[in-house]
Amino acid sequence: MLLALASIAALPSISWAAPPPATLAEVAVARLASDPVPARVVAGDFASDFITQPGAVIRERDRAPRWWRITVDRAVPAESRPQLVLQSPHLARVEAWTPGHPMPIRRSIMGPDADPGYSTRALVIPLDDGLEAGASLWLRVHSPSTAPMPVSIESLAQVHRADLLHVAWRTMILVSLLLLALLALGFWLGIGERSYAYLLLTLLAQAAFFATTGGEVRMLPGVATLIQNDPRIPLLLGLLGALCSLVFLIHYLDLRARQPRTLRVLVGCGAALLLLVLVSLVGTMGWVAVVANSILLVAAVVVLVASLIGCLQRQRAAYFVLLSWLPMIGLLFLRVGELSGLWPASTWVGYAFPAAFVLSGLVIMIGLGDTLQQLRRDRDRASRLATFDALTGAMSRPAIEERLKAGVADSHRTGMPLSVVFFDIDRFKRINDDFGHRVGDSCLKIIALRTRNRLRTYDLFGRWGGDEILVLLPDTRLGEALGVAENLRSAVNCRPLSIDGHLFDASLSLGVAQLGEGETAEQLLERADAALYSSKSAGRDRVTAHSRGGLAMA
Ligand code: GH3
Ligand code: MG
Repeated sequence: MLLALASIAALPSISWAAPPPATLAEVAVARLASDPVPARVVAGDFASDFITQPGAVIRERDRAPRWWRITVDRAVPAESRPQLVLQSPHLARVEAWTPGHPMPIRRSIMGPDADPGYSTRALVIPLDDGLEAGASLWLRVHSPSTAPMPVSIESLAQVHRADLLHVAWRTMILVSLLLLALLALGFWLGIGERSYAYLLLTLLAQAAFFATTGGEVRMLPGVATLIQNDPRIPLLLGLLGALCSLVFLIHYLDLRARQPRTLRVLVGCGAALLLLVLVSLVGTMGWVAVVANSILLVAAVVVLVASLIGCLQRQRAAYFVLLSWLPMIGLLFLRVGELSGLWPASTWVGYAFPAAFVLSGLVIMIGLGDTLQQLRRDRDRASRLATFDALTGAMSRPAIEERLKAGVADSHRTGMPLSVVFFDIDRFKRINDDFGHRVGDSCLKIIALRTRNRLRTYDLFGRWGGDEILVLLPDTRLGEALGVAENLRSAVNCRPLSIDGHLFDASLSLGVAQLGEGETAEQLLERADAALYSSKSAGRDRVTAHSRGGLAMA
């Protein structure tokens, strides 16, 4: 996911326009490429120097103030309460001279000229006296970006309707971004997974970028003045978001291990972006946004290719990146086309664009959840493999050893008895030699199954190694344990084993011991082992109990 990449690419094109208003009159727009004194412009001295522009859009290319003339094609009655509406003003400041008013009306989205009676969708200039057919309005526009400002004449009711829609939509977008950021923060603090930290930073930079370019930060007076005075701030926020999302992607797609070449290209893009951040800190340079856009487009394509490669490698994270990335790429493509004049600007793109970021954040959040789930599954599997012996299903040696130590500690603490049975298959080597290793394996499996079935649910059964099994019998005294051991013995020798057409007898030798006072797990095992050993030496198929201090035959 490159949440923020597309945001910068769209920097010069911020347009949160409402659905197309039913304009009260068609307008013609003309521009004067200089900044003479207002009195002479308004008096019409430069009328012939104004150059008509295509469409009803102000797109100011110069950073210095320039004059724009808006002419209506028909009369607009005052009863309709007409308003001149300049949509998506971004950080532009406008002074408007309307017919019959010698003093200009100043408007901007933020700062002292902002009119809080309207949303940040547009600059709204009242035309209280209405307009005659062919009347002109004069605008002195000071815009720090080339973002297009569609111009229309709307009734006050239309303005309010569009404003309400705008506020509802924008609030939903910003709140969603902040909620996702909060979730990322929670997961980061709770799980400690670094991806969430990168996602958190990206989402915060995103939200800040949209709130500054969309004008919602005007609710924070100090911040609004700061941004009004320094148009580099949105650019910086966008660059920061792009950098964070690059770091996130490198981490999330594990490019270091999986696609080192792609990693190098993205690191190059990241370094270039960082350089641009530093350059834009030093001074305002118009080319920064252009260069940033080009780098971001390269990075966007690289990310797309990287996620496609990831998908081919069946990397689950790559599917999520692709899913989150495609709508953004599509909208970015539409936006750039609009900006380059390849096709006319449509208002829905302006609204869908930030929504694509929310969607992307959501998809990535789900993707991260999926990654964590996968990690948990892998960890559980690894721990299962470490805890249980694959052949017999008995506990592995480290696991049964650990349980033995815990059982010994419990028994000393609570005073409850604990016994163990240690057993070994007699002449198992011969079974291997006579019938092959595979039959030997099956023999081990069957004996483990037969003996385990004779135990209680809370008895523990572990493979000590080779053909040796250790059974822990909690809450069991020696006498009872001997009974259990006898039971295990008869489970094996009660009937012959039939494996792969071979029919043969098998038997166990068993040693039993009960935990003595103050005895350690090692000492207990040593006694059980000694009992097993004496059972072996006494003859096959025996159960021997080893109580402290001597041998007792069962
Ligand atoms: P004893 O009666 O004294 O116990 O003699 P034994 O033949 O059973 O020999 P011992 O217990 O010393 O050796 C166990 C043999 O079990 C050694 C090894 O070849 C075999 N073995 C160990 N692990 C496996 C296994 O996983 N599968 C198979 N098929 N054989 C195993
Ligand atoms: Mg053996």
